[in-house]
Amino acid sequence: MELRNFINGKFIDSISKRNIPVLNPSNQDIVGNIDEALDDEINLAFESARKAFDKRILIDMDAKEKSLMMRAIANKLREKKSEGGKILSQENGKTIAQCVGEFEGAANTFDFYAGLTDKIEHKIIPSGNDTFNYVVLEPFGVSLMIVPWNYPVSIFSGMVAQNLIVGNTIVIKPPELCPISSNFYGKIFQEVGVPEGIINIVHGYGEVTGRKLVQHPDSDYIVFTGSPQVASEILKETADRIIPTHFELGGKSAAIIYPDADIDKAVDSTVKGIFEPNAGQICVAMSRVIIHPKVKDEYMTKLTEKTKKLKIGSGNNADTQVTPLISQEQLKRVSNYVKSGIQSGATLAVGGEEAHIGEGNYYKPTVFDNVKPDSTIAQEEIFGPVTSVFNFDDEEEAINIANSTKYGLASGVFTTDDQKAKWTADRIQAGIIWQNDWFVDGVNLPGGGYKRSGYGRDGGIDGIYSHGQTKRISKRLV
Ligand code: NAD
Repeated sequence: MELRNFINGKFIDSISKRNIPVLNPSNQDIVGNIDEALDDEINLAFESARKAFDKRILIDMDAKEKSLMMRAIANKLREKKSEGGKILSQENGKTIAQCVGEFEGAANTFDFYAGLTDKIEHKIIPSGNDTFNYVVLEPFGVSLMIVPWNYPVSIFSGMVAQNLIVGNTIVIKPPELCPISSNFYGKIFQEVGVPEGIINIVHGYGEVTGRKLVQHPDSDYIVFTGSPQVASEILKETADRIIPTHFELGGKSAAIIYPDADIDKAVDSTVKGIFEPNAGQICVAMSRVIIHPKVKDEYMTKLTEKTKKLKIGSGNNADTQVTPLISQEQLKRVSNYVKSGIQSGATLAVGGEEAHIGEGNYYKPTVFDNVKPDSTIAQEEIFGPVTSVFNFDDEEEAINIANSTKYGLASGVFTTDDQKAKWTADRIQAGIIWQNDWFVDGVNLPGGGYKRSGYGRDGGIDGIYSHGQTKRISKRLV
């Protein structure tokens, strides 16, 4: 497996002579040691991205040629999905099927955007007989991208595919906890002949390499998916340079369940929204449930029954439903949140402790009932298999609880009454609202955050416009 940094179209030998061990979350085995990029590698990466941008390679590339290049990347991702999925599962902990699916999803993203290279239309704005105005979408320049560990292959593809269309060249840092699978991209870029310098992959710890990348003066734009804490740091670090940023951050997503809802559907959605896949380590996890007392007993009984039966285990086993947390640190963090929930007076309905299976970072799927809306577990992103249940009496109260956190990423409403669903969706402050299910998604659909969950949109055509800037050209006709 390739463990080096990918710069200017090549995997390069380490200059820093340092590397980072990558651990398997299900047993702490070392999956590999990836090269750490420090100042020399970072300078080379920015230099090559800048050169590629200045040469206007992507901007001047024929739209059909760009489309073929992106389709070729999609095809290679599909070709390598079994091999890549296995490695992603080892370093990230998710099941092999989920990881193979992540490569397939990444391929779908490249396919979707490959179909759009020649469909970005610019605007002509009428203004009388003697003037002519048009507006074009242009790139920012060199784009720095920083990726989190929960869906590293799919987030990489979304960021890169959209930016290739707009014409930004790229320096991208995969997450240090599971970086190896991202190196499949380097191989693929070589195999399909992506011009040198357009996409450069550098590895390293967030607080070292990540910070150095952010501080580097040669980025024109920063695309970041991760925690709001790091996003704030990025803003502080770049305040003097006033460069645009695109942030996809955390969430504390709530489902509102009305008394007329199909409760079996709501229970199934909860299980898939917070426990599977990825043990709740999902930005849009259903980490809060706001339910009417009329249907609460039925919901709680069915949910606890299902939750107790979930199979916890390694991503290597095909029947695993709840996989390990990414690291020992994350396990401790989740465990501490659960302790704080118990201290706050919430009732533990199920779970609430680690699952001791070998050396893995396992936590039992956990449901808290009678949670106080202002308690820590109700307000902060836990990023683990833990959800909190609240009661409401009228619709206004449900909306108030749903909107009571600093986040605004996703949300859901369960009801058979479309009017009530619309009334609810209109009032929830979140970038995505699902009705009667969780994860109704597709690469052609835009998503992103409200409030502390970030800004900018990814997915669909909106995503393309979100990664560029417009220029107006106004002529006086002679
Ligand atoms: P994180 O913020 O700790 O790290 C994200 C990336 O930033 C990593 O590559 C890390 O190395 C890097 N980083 C860390 N410190 C840095 C610094 N000081 N300067 C520059 N880079 C730095 O987040 P995480 O733990 O990897 O991911 C979990 C978070 O990501 C959660 O909050 C989750 O909700 C969020 N997330 C959001 C979305 C979305 O689409 N909204 C998707 C996935 C994850």
